[in-house]
Amino acid sequence: MAEARIIDGKAFAATLRGRIAGAVQRLRTEKGLVPGLAVVIVGENPASQIYVKNKGEQSREAGFHSVTHRLAEATTQDDLLRLVAQLNADPAIHGILVQLPLPPQIDAMAVLAAIDPDKDVDGFHVVNAGRLAVGLPALVPCTPLGCLMLLKDALGDLRGREAVVVGRSNIVGKPVAQLLLQADCTVTIAHSRTADLQAVCRRADILVAAVGRPEMVRGSWIKPGATVIDVGINRVPARDPALAAQGKSRVVGDVAFEEARMVAGAITPVPGGVGPMTIACLLLNTLTAACRGAGVPVPDEVGA
Ligand code: NDP
Repeated sequence: MAEARIIDGKAFAATLRGRIAGAVQRLRTEKGLVPGLAVVIVGENPASQIYVKNKGEQSREAGFHSVTHRLAEATTQDDLLRLVAQLNADPAIHGILVQLPLPPQIDAMAVLAAIDPDKDVDGFHVVNAGRLAVGLPALVPCTPLGCLMLLKDALGDLRGREAVVVGRSNIVGKPVAQLLLQADCTVTIAHSRTADLQAVCRRADILVAAVGRPEMVRGSWIKPGATVIDVGINRVPARDPALAAQGKSRVVGDVAFEEARMVAGAITPVPGGVGPMTIACLLLNTLTAACRGAGVPVPDEVGA
């Protein structure tokens, strides 16, 4: 069997960001509308610092009004809630993202619940989870939205396909499953208590792995010709033992890529698959929120 087609999320995300930038330019000229994104980070988590920097840079490149609020590790929940209230009331801000994780003195659920659902561009507010579940227009979590865009691009119509999502978190597994259901797939959600996970995975025409366990899904778990979306981002020691001994690492997905590519029909690599779609979809959600807020249609060219 031929090797799987590689689904190039990096290229897709770059094209999407370009389309968003074009739409933003047109909205600014024709409607005087500039989408505004506020990103809030509390503390010094190194991974979060990188994510927030990238979000700021990519939103500015797309022509957004972009602000980053950097708060001290010791920030109280009340202080953070005051900032969220201020951003909720700010007409220049259409999207608010509070970077997770938050320090232990802050209840993340309370903060997410305080964000205006119409500005909740991470799509984590229960109102948006509910809207997605009942099929109302929602702001959809960015990584799941990215997965669906890649799948629709790779496969076209998803109707009637057997989809298995491994993982049931609120930020990836469950919303991916909701989106697949909306796309008329027959959806199974697997998790750590699933019996005979390998057999369940082997049923899938579309297999989405969102587990957080390096290379857990083996080639033998994949139905020949299936489309595999690997959401996992796992840091493991470098392949070269000398480099590993120096503490060097590499990033792998939840799928054993080299085995899987010999069986699957198409597969996302890690890195360069789902990962780059997350920020592109954050920009898309901010554009969507800005358009909805202003009562103008979301421009067709962004493919929302
Ligand atoms: P969580 O830890 O919140 O959820 C993991 C899920 O996997 C749980 O539902 C858990 O089941 C399930 N699981 C764990 N072990 C097994 C197992 N042995 N067999 C079957 N299921 C198992 O992780 P997230 O959903 O937040 O993230 C998943 C992965 O995606 C991570 O690698 C993360 O880094 C990555 N990620 C990537 C993003 C991106 O590309 N931008 C964004 C977000 C996440 P149970 O519920 O039973 O415990």
